[in-house]
Amino acid sequence: MKILVVNAGSSSLKYQLIDMDNESVIAKGLVERIGIDGSSLTHKYGKDTKQIFEKVTEIPNHTVAMNLVLEALLDKEHGVISSVKEIGAVGHRVLHGGDKFTASCIVDAACEKAIEDCIPLGPLHNPANLSGIRACQAVMPDTPMVAVFDTAFHQTMPEKAFLYGVPYKYYEEDAVRRYGFHGTSHRFVSARAQELLGLGEDSKVIVCHLGNGSSLSACVGGKCVDTSMGLTPLEGVLMGTRSGNVDPAVVEFIANKEGISVTETLTMLNKKSGLLAVSGVSSDMRDVTAAAKAGNPRAKVALDMWAYSIKKYIGAYAAAMGGLDAVIFTAGIGENHAIGRGMVCEGLEFLGIKLDPEKNQTCSGQEARISTDDSRVQVWIIPTNEELAIARDTLELTRK
Ligand code: ADP
Repeated sequence: MKILVVNAGSSSLKYQLIDMDNESVIAKGLVERIGIDGSSLTHKYGKDTKQIFEKVTEIPNHTVAMNLVLEALLDKEHGVISSVKEIGAVGHRVLHGGDKFTASCIVDAACEKAIEDCIPLGPLHNPANLSGIRACQAVMPDTPMVAVFDTAFHQTMPEKAFLYGVPYKYYEEDAVRRYGFHGTSHRFVSARAQELLGLGEDSKVIVCHLGNGSSLSACVGGKCVDTSMGLTPLEGVLMGTRSGNVDPAVVEFIANKEGISVTETLTMLNKKSGLLAVSGVSSDMRDVTAAAKAGNPRAKVALDMWAYSIKKYIGAYAAAMGGLDAVIFTAGIGENHAIGRGMVCEGLEFLGIKLDPEKNQTCSGQEARISTDDSRVQVWIIPTNEELAIARDTLELTRK
């Protein structure tokens, strides 16, 4: 069966068509600047999806975007299927499932209503995700669809980990609590770690999803017991453009100083902070590292802060779980940045973490163990694949 995976953002739509017989990517692409001037579609197909077809055209909304995606998939020259009927099901990435979704679900009226109910928790993403779902329903009304939530994996956290120390009514009446994100990645990677390392029900694993957005999860027996992102993806470690943890009083201070609203201040903490703000160079780890190597002191401190914030979570989660069997690195930085992994693990020998410098250097981008043979805690790189995880859920649920 071929499954289409759709990740609709407010002004973008990413897709992958996956052949589930061998879990290979047949085509993938991106529609950018939906509803904005200069919108375009980039469609990749062929061997290793190296062939590229681009189209710059007016794309006013997600339905038009979805139509273009289907046109590209069906195109005589650049297409990969001859009929929409070849798409057996569609899997949609949805940001916020609140506490309503502990797993993926078939899209029906109740599911759509629940995604809508979660809009106050994900005001930017959930409406876009719904637009993606509705656009697909409009262009392929007979194809079954599945929603896969970024928050679902973290729903196994105990109350002591997910509650905030704020007046209880905000939890009871407004569902204000920690939810966590990147759940599809944390689930995929922790399940792979369980399998690969032959771990049992009491295994204690920390998954470090380190990309532009970053989060860590503490997993016991493959189930999440704590995670670093919170009500929104702003909480946790230092990220590309997000500050991660700050004293909430900083929000009041900046808002007063600049004469801006709380919302504007939070936009600053989400989009203009993190590596970008501290380094003054870039939000991209490659640029920050290059600048640090060239002697830029702010880039160097940004890199130090980044590693230090992750290291502190590893210590905290080892304490929370009462031990540690494995640390897993994944996502853009986690998979590819040897220097960053080295900085995070440095000084953690007391926890039983001993990185093999040579393996760390040479194994980037691959599934590999990068700790020494005598390291009590195993350290691994496990590349994440959120699209495949979404496609697998979609296959499983639509088969039933
Ligand atoms: P997103 O959260 O946007 O999905 P990714 O998981 O793709 O992010 O990660 C993007 C980050 O990964 C960027 O900071 C980028 O610099 C970093 N990255 C990608 N490749 C490398 C590399 N070879 N070395 C170091 N960092 C890398």
